[in-house]
Amino acid sequence: MNLQPKTVGFKAGERNVFFHILTGCNLACKHCYINTEQHGSNMLSLATIKRWLNLFSRSNTHLTTGKVQRESPAIQRGTNLILLGGEPTMHPNLSEIISYAKSLQFTVTVDSNGYLFHDLLDKTRPDQLDYLSFSLDGPEPEINDLIRGEGVFQVCTKNIRKAVAAGFTVSLIYTVSNRNIDHLPEMVPLLKELGVFKFFIQVVGLRGHSAAGDRDRNGDSKAWQIMPERWLNVVPQVAANAAQNGIHVVYPKVYLKKGERFECAGLVAENYFIFPNGRVYRCPLCEDHPINELNIVDGRLIKNEGLMEDKFFQLSIPEGCVMNKLLQPGNIQYDQNGIPQHRISCCLLKHEIDPDAD
Ligand code: SF4
Ligand code: SF4
Repeated sequence: MNLQPKTVGFKAGERNVFFHILTGCNLACKHCYINTEQHGSNMLSLATIKRWLNLFSRSNTHLTTGKVQRESPAIQRGTNLILLGGEPTMHPNLSEIISYAKSLQFTVTVDSNGYLFHDLLDKTRPDQLDYLSFSLDGPEPEINDLIRGEGVFQVCTKNIRKAVAAGFTVSLIYTVSNRNIDHLPEMVPLLKELGVFKFFIQVVGLRGHSAAGDRDRNGDSKAWQIMPERWLNVVPQVAANAAQNGIHVVYPKVYLKKGERFECAGLVAENYFIFPNGRVYRCPLCEDHPINELNIVDGRLIKNEGLMEDKFFQLSIPEGCVMNKLLQPGNIQYDQNGIPQHRISCCLLKHEIDPDAD
């Protein structure tokens, strides 16, 4: 078994659509990045969701540059669609949305906080939904529920078991922060016991409630941010251990090594982050600001003029990612000559260990 992480580079023509179909949620996680002032608070109707899915569905044309990409295997396979909220299972038509997206040949993932409203498991078949993803931020209630709310661990793990038993391919997202990084190693036996297929480790973004002076939505100032040494000492080892236990692992690269090429996904990949108010971002770090490159207006995708995120993507700086430098500079360390010790990679660049790969 090869446990060496592979960097998953950006592939021309690959399209990932992150679609927030509503922003409402039954939980109030301390690190929630949903910002209704910027993202809207409405729930999109089934008819609107279908229209918007048509805009982003399989096509051999890059949506913003208009360039034709006939040869892309990603386009031949279809496009990845990640249905998000808020809590997407609060949408009463989620199962119809999934079926419609499948008819457009999307590879479909639903990211849920674990509550699975509207009997999702009964209304959707495992062959219609490619991945059902659950968010859990600790291996036990004492850790998870401090971040995500009382009783959440119990509901989430119970529904993971149900989903696995019903034949769904289950993945799990663990958002690593200063508050739970020490408990990441304990996730591996839990994932194994639950029957989770894929483990996404992600780093907390200083957006929404975890931004604003690194305080959470309750004003608690305990820092969320993790220093490079801590990340590098913990995350790769846990990822390797999970893979050794047969779990497919994906985690962000975060720090580029000397000589590694920096690429901004905003320039070389097709990622779209859609919100219910019609804003469409190309970079998740920009989502707290009205600098979205695109908007959906009257059912059409419109490119915004002026100082929008796409202008920032073109800036080249020694620190790597421009938006990271502007929005969360605390995670960059400099030597005595003012040279950054690490360049920060694009937040969308991932490491992957697939225990089933050759
Ligand atoms: S489940 Fe997601 S949307 Fe809901 S509060 Fe938590 S982070 Fe925010
Ligand atoms: S995270 Fe940085 S590098 Fe990645 S798309 Fe955004 S600005 Fe570009």
